[in-house]
Amino acid sequence: MAELLVVGSVALDSVETPFGKVREVLGGSATYFSYSASFFTQVRLVATVGEDFPEPHRRLLEDRGVDLHGLQTSKGKTFRWVGQYGYDLNEVKTLDTQLNVLAEFRPTLGEALRRSPFLFLANIDPQLQLDVLRQMKEPPRLVALDTMNFWIQGKPEALRRVLAKVDVITINDGEARQLASEPNLIRAARAIASMGPRTVVVKRGEYGALMLADDTFFFVPAYPLDSVYDPTGAGDTFAGGFMGYLAAQDRIDGPAMRRAVVYGSVMASFTVEDFSLTRLTRLKPADIADRYAAFHDLIRLEP
Ligand code: AMP
Repeated sequence: MAELLVVGSVALDSVETPFGKVREVLGGSATYFSYSASFFTQVRLVATVGEDFPEPHRRLLEDRGVDLHGLQTSKGKTFRWVGQYGYDLNEVKTLDTQLNVLAEFRPTLGEALRRSPFLFLANIDPQLQLDVLRQMKEPPRLVALDTMNFWIQGKPEALRRVLAKVDVITINDGEARQLASEPNLIRAARAIASMGPRTVVVKRGEYGALMLADDTFFFVPAYPLDSVYDPTGAGDTFAGGFMGYLAAQDRIDGPAMRRAVVYGSVMASFTVEDFSLTRLTRLKPADIADRYAAFHDLIRLEP
């Protein structure tokens, strides 16, 4: 079991879906990621929050054993995101993004963190992702990155620079098309691979996840759920399961990468069953094992 470092956002999210509405609940890319990955390995989180960040949120992560020494409290307000979904839960509309303390955030890694064998650059300013990568003293065994339309549009050059240096990218389908300027998803995945990452994982919400690794495709459907309340954080939770599983393996080969995509899908399938991290906070390791087995049945095919 190797240590997994994540740098990303910790947020207060306000979300509306056809099934309910929540205001200023715990969210953020690094939050969902670390909570999810904590079921597999030791996670260390580097992020910033404002002075208004509620103490119980911090405790929630600590209770899962997430190391929060790198979570700095800065003067000002916590990052806020406001999103809305219609009946098509694959389509989110960002109503507001208030960077607040994230605008001035300059992550500085302590000596121990600079040698982390696994690194996830969660959705955050690509310039900061680059800064973090430059601070690593030894090349990690695996570096993965996530991003979104906000940065693809806002910081395209920095994003291209950091992409050239990572092993894996996790990205949703719409954003993959946007990043590659290519409507066909297969071609888009190939185009993104040519920008740097050897492995491209395209998250397709209720349509599953597609991985392109060394010119070979692998596809996993989403777990069939009859109650999906809020897809927020599904992508980061997926990445947490994916990276967390890999960090716990001695060997990272093709079959391990495929199992990691399934573990990612398992974790994401829980997150969407409730708002914020609510469903994850009730999760037991046995639930993960059961759903992994259910996935296995779902996709099994006799030769
Ligand atoms: P996802 O897993 O893609 O649904 O990510 C949802 C999380 O991303 C939310 O909890 C937000 O707080 C966070 N988020 C939204 N916009 C940004 C942004 N521009 N930078 C960093 N994090 C963001």
